[in-house]
Amino acid sequence: MTDNQIRNINQLLKSYTIKERLAWAWDQFPNQLVMTSSFQTQSVSLLHMVAEAIPQLPVLFLDTGFHFPETLAFRDALKEKYQLNIINLRTELGHQQFKNTYGNLYLSDPDLCCHINKTNPLQKKLDEYSAWITGVRADQTKERGEMQFFSIEENGRAKICPMLDWTSKDLWTFHNKQDLLEHPLFTSGYMSVGCAPCTRPVNAGEDERSGRWADNCKTECGIHTNPNKNEIDKS
Ligand code: SF4
Repeated sequence: MTDNQIRNINQLLKSYTIKERLAWAWDQFPNQLVMTSSFQTQSVSLLHMVAEAIPQLPVLFLDTGFHFPETLAFRDALKEKYQLNIINLRTELGHQQFKNTYGNLYLSDPDLCCHINKTNPLQKKLDEYSAWITGVRADQTKERGEMQFFSIEENGRAKICPMLDWTSKDLWTFHNKQDLLEHPLFTSGYMSVGCAPCTRPVNAGEDERSGRWADNCKTECGIHTNPNKNEIDKS
């Protein structure tokens, strides 16, 4: 696909609603499309629209073994509500063996911990598909602000970001209007929820993602920033 073709697709997608973007993606990649979800409050709007537009879409969840029990319960509640086709992904090593081998790797080397528990299992699964959908928004991080609605990764896989131009305000307006479910920790200040050791609640006025890896400069787990990293998985 040429740069010009990609540019034209992005212009087209820009004119579409999110549900139209989802329908377009399935039309382009029937049975070769998948999405990822972290099953937090901010994930629900896209899951809601996916359930309406492409209910058969597989939804990948990175089950790192470090999630809050509330996140797993929320995942199960959303699966039940929307009849989602969820696929849980784990490191081949298994969580207990990972902990026996690496201990608290999230403290000493969170990038490697994310690589083993998130990026590597995800990339292995994505190899079965031609395209994936993610719910990132441009206003979330600097890296996400440079993404496009449609792009081709170095490995040739298409990446589609149907919510890229939604702001935080857009998301919460939709969420409240549709009266969507909330993650059980949301009212305790968890505006963005990842693994328990790497997430804290945010205070009023703080950025929504400021509670993620709050003790270091890490802002991304790596699935959106280094999907082609050819690092040996020590698992
Ligand atoms: S978010 Fe934290 S616990 Fe989860 S995989 Fe990354 S470093 Fe490990």
